[in-house]
Amino acid sequence: MAFEGLSEKLSAAFKRLRSKGKLTEADVRQAMREVRLALLEADVNYKIAKQFVNDVTERAIGSAVLESLTPAQQVIKIVNEELTALMGGEQSRIRYASKPPTVILLCGLQGSGKTTHAAKLALSMKKQGKRPLLAACDVYRPAAIKQLQVVGEKAGVPVFEQGQGDPVKIAKAALHHAKDHGSDVLILDTAGRLHVDEALMDELKRIKAAVEPDEILLVVDAMTGQDAVNVASSFNEVLGIDGVILTKLDGDTRGGAALSVRAVTGKPIKFAGTGEKLDDLEPFHPERMASRILGMGDMLTLIEKAEQEVDQKKAAEMAKKLKHNAIDFNDFLESIRQMKKMGSLSSVMNMLPGVRGKVSEEQMDKGEIEMKRTEAIITSMTAYERERPESINPSRKRRIASGSGTKVEDVNRLLRNFEQTRKMMKQMGGKGKRRGRMPMLP
Ligand code: GDP
Repeated sequence: MAFEGLSEKLSAAFKRLRSKGKLTEADVRQAMREVRLALLEADVNYKIAKQFVNDVTERAIGSAVLESLTPAQQVIKIVNEELTALMGGEQSRIRYASKPPTVILLCGLQGSGKTTHAAKLALSMKKQGKRPLLAACDVYRPAAIKQLQVVGEKAGVPVFEQGQGDPVKIAKAALHHAKDHGSDVLILDTAGRLHVDEALMDELKRIKAAVEPDEILLVVDAMTGQDAVNVASSFNEVLGIDGVILTKLDGDTRGGAALSVRAVTGKPIKFAGTGEKLDDLEPFHPERMASRILGMGDMLTLIEKAEQEVDQKKAAEMAKKLKHNAIDFNDFLESIRQMKKMGSLSSVMNMLPGVRGKVSEEQMDKGEIEMKRTEAIITSMTAYERERPESINPSRKRRIASGSGTKVEDVNRLLRNFEQTRKMMKQMGGKGKRRGRMPMLP
């Protein structure tokens, strides 16, 4: 996960500050030296790291902070606010055109994740009730058109293509097509190169002139660190961009790009890509990212994901069943599926305050395997067995185990867990309100 090293180093610096109680100016300066090093090691642009530390120090050595009852807390609060400001302060959203279709031009180097993110963006807009159209303007690699068609199909979004013609003409034709077919967003996937070069920029400029995009979003790979920031600067100077989609933030990038892009280019990060799956896309919220970096978790994103992905009707049905202690294995299965929709176990866990760094990758993987195993076992049960777990006798257990590629003891363990959940629900029955709660998890 991104920012791990930075988080650790910052938290070590703050721990030392906290252990001191009363702080002197020298204590703050010492801590800020550590912060500066941590930023540099995270591949933050050196000028930005320097400016950041100066800004924090200036605010932190004021008497109001040093003489307060919780000086270390105050310093951390300032770091949090300055980190947020560094990444742009407020969330920066897509500006939709007053007269549809809104045209979004995606550009970026080869391999940055352009095609994947064209589809991710289209899917997230579709979920918001929009009717996006994807257009294949990367004409140099036949595989690129095919790839867009594949991800478009996965997202359930139409793809406009005219084979390997002139990308400027294709972009124009796509715009007509969008207008004629009532698409309210047109997302253009363009060609990438290995490096920024004149021919590429020239083509993008011509596409820009032809379709007058409402948003030009540059897709950059967070794993490339300072290079990502340099690429963003070049594209911004030549083409003029409106924002950045920072991809592969799920990898073990040190995070420097996320912290420097805005300050270097003046353009905000609008979205973060956090995985290869099409729903691994998050709107970029500077304040939430800052609290994730400082290990304070990101409950807001987690709650939003739950609201978006968890089927409220099913959750209400589940709550009713829980109330009457009438859950069965279908409910167990459903809760796993709902949970999976929110992303991988580790991405969910990492958003919980205080969890980051405390649960090992190995434990997460184990949890993930356990969930898969549970799903396999339940799907090997007959409808009758799922509804009546008490009917599962030894011969049924053997059949279920062999059907799911597990062992009888795995089936036994699941049955025990299930009984425990039921018992727990019974004990909780009648206590307190349960309206709107999340479905239970196996
Ligand atoms: P393009 O050449 O810019 O169109 O890049 P692609 O969309 O083909 O992506 C290049 C590779 O990066 C593919 O293998 C993608 O699956 C992968 N990829 C894209 N976005 C992400 C992301 O956010 N996280 C991870 N882990 N991989 C990604």
